Amino acid sequence: MASGILFDFKKFSIHDGPGIRTTAFLKGCPLHCAWCHNPESISPKIELHYWPERCILCGECVEHCPEDALSLSDHTLQKDPARCTRCGTCAARCPAEAWQQIGREMSVDEVMAEIRKDLPFYDESGGGVTFSGGEPLLQPEFLKEALQACKAIGVHTAVDTTGYTAWRNLEQITPYTDLFLYDLKLMDSARHRQFTGVPNETILANLRSLAASGCEIIIRIPVIPGVNDDPANLESTAQFLHELNSIRRVDLLPYHHIAISKYSRMGVPYSLPDTSPPSADHIQDIQTRMESYGFKVTSGG
Ligand code: SF4
Ligand code: SF4
Repeated sequence: MASGILFDFKKFSIHDGPGIRTTAFLKGCPLHCAWCHNPESISPKIELHYWPERCILCGECVEHCPEDALSLSDHTLQKDPARCTRCGTCAARCPAEAWQQIGREMSVDEVMAEIRKDLPFYDESGGGVTFSGGEPLLQPEFLKEALQACKAIGVHTAVDTTGYTAWRNLEQITPYTDLFLYDLKLMDSARHRQFTGVPNETILANLRSLAASGCEIIIRIPVIPGVNDDPANLESTAQFLHELNSIRRVDLLPYHHIAISKYSRMGVPYSLPDTSPPSADHIQDIQTRMESYGFKVTSGG
């Protein structure tokens, strides 16, 4: 049985597909979007974040670290990264929650045990499970087995993807995926690379193939002021989607900067410190523009 690295479960989600859903977040992403709301998702490895302001310097983690990676000197906790194996003992032992473990390895059975707890909510609401990230297709075999296990007990499945993966990875999950939530960010490949770290040719080619295969797809467009909200990009996006002939719905996800505090906690610089959320009028203009191509358009989420 495959195992995967997950960093969160969101219960009672109503923005990741139909009905009430459980969203499972898989760790690791090949993109580095400048506006990423989940910077803790990018590394595929389990990580440990230390919050010095919470630490009461009790020495509990130092005493129990099996690798002698921690020490206390001059009223400061020090870690030797070369010794740390990311076992998580420090986080488990800390009485002050000064260590936070990001990510844990789970088998498909363990993930299904979480999912089974929510089965009554799916039945009542027409909901199900959404696999998100990060990029869930960075762990293709685990994702496929988890989707198969969901379908085996009749649970509706959705996959939230950047589309940046080998086509064979997408193709092998289509029989077990009821809905794809497919992110589309920028149509110009050079600008896509500038703001996400990768070009967009693979993403567009995979979307063409997925649309041609008859899968149900909802397109998700993050609206990032100054990045992808200009008329030229929006027209190009709408035209591309229109030509696919099978896209019925587009969800606009207006930029917000709620995640800035995560960046400062992680000691990672935030790339868009001066960007403000788009106004309601601007989102309405974009919605109207997209609707003129015949799409059902929602905003928020
Ligand atoms: S994760 Fe494990 S090895 Fe690393 S510092 Fe914590 S207890 Fe030590
Ligand atoms: S166990 Fe927690 S509170 Fe105690 S020294 Fe380690 S990090 Fe600080």
